[in-house]
Amino acid sequence: MPIYKAPVEDVLFLLGDVFQVGRYDHLPGFADASSDVVAAILGEAAKFCEQALTPLNRTGDIEGCTRHDDGGVTTPTGFRDAFKQYAEGGWMGISAPAEFGGQGLPETLTVAVNEMLVSANMAFAMYPGLTQGAIAALIQHGTPAQKATYLPKMIEGRWTGTMNLTEPHCGTDLGLLRTKAVKQPDGSYRISGTKIFISAGEHDLAENIVHLVLARIEGAPAGIKGISLFVVPKFLGSADGSLGPRNGVACGSIEEKMGIHGNATCVMNYDGATGWLIGGEHRGINAMFTMMNEARLGVGVQGLALSEVAYQNAAAYAKDRLQGRALTGAKSPGQAADPIIVHPDVRRMLMTMRAFNEAARALVLWTALQADVAHRSGDGKARAAAEDHIGLLTPVIKGVLTDQGFANTVLAQQIYGGHGYIAEHGMEQFVRDARIAMLYEGANGIQALDLVGRKLPQDGGRALRTFFGEVEAHVKAQQRNPVMKPYVDPLATALGHLQQASMWFMKNAPINPDNAGAGSTDYMHLFGLVVLGYMWCRIVEAANARLAGGDGDAARMKAKFVTGRFFVERMLPETATCLARIQAGASSTMELPVEAF
Ligand SMILES: Cc1cc2nc3c(=O)[nH]c(=O)nc-3n(C[C@H](O)[C@H](O)[C@H](O)COP(=O)(O)OP(=O)(O)OC[C@H]3O[C@@H](n4cnc5c(N)ncnc54)[C@H](O)[C@@H]3O)c2cc1C
Repeated sequence: MPIYKAPVEDVLFLLGDVFQVGRYDHLPGFADASSDVVAAILGEAAKFCEQALTPLNRTGDIEGCTRHDDGGVTTPTGFRDAFKQYAEGGWMGISAPAEFGGQGLPETLTVAVNEMLVSANMAFAMYPGLTQGAIAALIQHGTPAQKATYLPKMIEGRWTGTMNLTEPHCGTDLGLLRTKAVKQPDGSYRISGTKIFISAGEHDLAENIVHLVLARIEGAPAGIKGISLFVVPKFLGSADGSLGPRNGVACGSIEEKMGIHGNATCVMNYDGATGWLIGGEHRGINAMFTMMNEARLGVGVQGLALSEVAYQNAAAYAKDRLQGRALTGAKSPGQAADPIIVHPDVRRMLMTMRAFNEAARALVLWTALQADVAHRSGDGKARAAAEDHIGLLTPVIKGVLTDQGFANTVLAQQIYGGHGYIAEHGMEQFVRDARIAMLYEGANGIQALDLVGRKLPQDGGRALRTFFGEVEAHVKAQQRNPVMKPYVDPLATALGHLQQASMWFMKNAPINPDNAGAGSTDYMHLFGLVVLGYMWCRIVEAANARLAGGDGDAARMKAKFVTGRFFVERMLPETATCLARIQAGASSTMELPVEAF
């Protein structure tokens, strides 16, 4: 059975040394999150993930979810108990506002915990993950009455949430959406239509399920501008706050799918269900964006989390499996063969995963800190800068971390050789589970287009310029430091490639928009390499400071230098290839007529 050890020490190093989280103590909730408190919370989360969730990952995959004739859905054995533990542990609301029963701690902490949950059991983690997204949307866009009705129960983990966008004919292009909402004299709406692929749409983990549903009010304009968001609970409330009658929404079927079998992916039929508007008529897409941004970061974390757990298992296997001899002479002469970790090609795969994981974790936590600033700072300028950061980096995190996260699960499987293909080892499950993260929450091609088409030009390119400025300043400050030079020089080259690519789009996209479309995925990955390279420079700088301070954990810090060097020497140079592909333009991609395919 696969193993998992939560990366608590690495998170503490990133928060304390790299991002010096103490600098955020002026934000509400941060002073309560002293390093001792954070270490204790992460330690508890690690225990829950390692001991309760990891053992359910494979059994949940085998058993899957079952829909019954009455439309009810049973989750795999053990999920109910685990969810009860999760709710009783207060994990759903560690960062939710205290006024609704949360603990008000930084969102950054929730993000760190969520990585562990997903590594341990992605299918399980999606039930609370979607609920946290729905909580965020209700906090930002719900009326006071809606907040009072739903938030305390969702934060307590008694009720869960879902997100209902997709319809059979309408995925990426939400403007095609047909689900209908008809206004009633009491101000509520009757919602009718079919939603597909709804994660956690029905299950047996909670007393009630709060569906957030995109629908078109009768007579609304066509397209994306005519969409509104509604809250539609599975059970309607009674006047005394207890659960009332069943609403007109039911699970018609659950999908047979490639992975995440423990999470119920449902067809949801809305048949005159009662719902209430959230965030104003025809303003649904704005409200949904809150959930989508939250969810996109969460999906990026899924890529990292699966890469991490796959790496841990591959590393353990590589130390154990004996095949062949090291090229430089036997390393275990007393045994029939050397462990495969001696082979450079196996090391290449391990180091690729490791170098990605540690920098991706830094990127995720850095961005989560910006989310805390955006939601909690009293300084308007700081909030705006944090929003810029999140807007620019969300598509990069979602697209790059899930593309590379999936690729890394395949690398980990490769390290197992043929045994990686055999279900018993659990590696093929990681591959299957990781695959979905590239598809949902906006397929990765759409993330790349969002980055190139919306985020780059937004506000005259302000966010991009700020990002370039920050990386340039870091390079300049460190270039004369002999320890940092081997890291910042390649970063400067990679940044130059990103700047050239940005300029190329500015010049060539207006001539032919396909030039931007054809290069967008390469641009997203080029961006990802630069930002991960920047994270490595920050990590190495902090590790160097720790070593200079006579840190007791010298081996772990020294490993950061080597892993960072692997990244800048062997992964970062890919930026040149990305740039060359972008500068090739769209013609060879688009020239063949449709009939030729
Ligand atoms: C397991 C699972 C769970 C899910 N959970 C949820 C959920 O909880 N709630 C929910 O609402 N939905 C959910 N989804 C739906 C998911 O978000 C959609 O499948 C996804 O957004 C893509 O939509 P689609 O499948 O219709 O693909 P399409 O929109 O048909 O896209 C097909 C391909 O065309 C590309 N494409 C489309 N338009 C463009 C364009 N303009 N430019 C360039 N390329 C384009 C896409 O990138 C993609 O590669 C889930 C899906 C799955 C499989």
